[in-house]
Amino acid sequence: MTEAQNDFTGLVAVVTGGASGIGAAIADRLESGGATVAVFDLAASARHTSFRVDVTDDVSVRDGIEAVVERFGRLDVLINNAGIGAAGTVETSDDATWQRVLDVNVVGTARVSRAAMPHLKRSPHGAIVNTCSIAATAGLPERAVYSASKGAVLALTRAMAADHLREGVRVNAVNPGTADTPWVGRLLDAADDPIAERAALEARQPHGRLVSAGEVADAVVYLAGPRASSTTGVALAVDGGMQNLRLRAE
Ligand code: NAD
Repeated sequence: MTEAQNDFTGLVAVVTGGASGIGAAIADRLESGGATVAVFDLAASARHTSFRVDVTDDVSVRDGIEAVVERFGRLDVLINNAGIGAAGTVETSDDATWQRVLDVNVVGTARVSRAAMPHLKRSPHGAIVNTCSIAATAGLPERAVYSASKGAVLALTRAMAADHLREGVRVNAVNPGTADTPWVGRLLDAADDPIAERAALEARQPHGRLVSAGEVADAVVYLAGPRASSTTGVALAVDGGMQNLRLRAE
């Protein structure tokens, strides 16, 4: 293994939502970079040490963080990746949907960060990366609640970056486009015509395909690592050009 791949040797990382999709890919890459990884999820991880933590439950979150620090002695990196979606417009989304999605995606990110912060401050490489979304920066149809939640995650990322810079904790985000994960698999399975739906999602991204979980994970791991020591308060798009490009039809 080269030196570049060992950036995380000796560091301990928590990945929320790390039992599936993007989070599992992040956990894989952090581990191959030398980190000790703890997955916080409702489901057990097939590949990593996991703790059953519900990010909507403050006691569960605090117990999980304390268990990690007790077991591994420190906490250096937090990846707030657990998230849920919801389809619908502002007209069709009820209060229960708003509360459920904001509680996981926004307050969940804040809860885990709050519990982790005292430990991250003690680390020489304290860093948080939030999995945000293209939905924070582009208007997508039928995603009113989800988009609002990810817009809040983006604003929270910047606010946290400002608050904790002088304490030595960097805070960044990634904005994936539509990524090939079990989440999107479930959406496709529920569509009337899954093949046409997949083709439409692929065509929406200028590079003509879905983003892979590994591509998102590589961006997260870069932002989480000591090589990004001068980078804080940014959102890195991993979206095949969806946010910023306007191609001419071929
Ligand atoms: P996924 O459904 O495959 O994985 C999400 C994981 O989060 C699951 O293991 C689930 O059990 C866990 N989780 C859900 N609620 C939880 C809770 N209350 N406490 C703890 N864990 C919980 O989804 P994914 O596609 O890998 O998405 C991961 C993140 O990426 C999410 O934040 C999502 O919003 C974001 N994202 C996904 C896409 C995409 O197209 N897949 C695009 C942009 C952003």
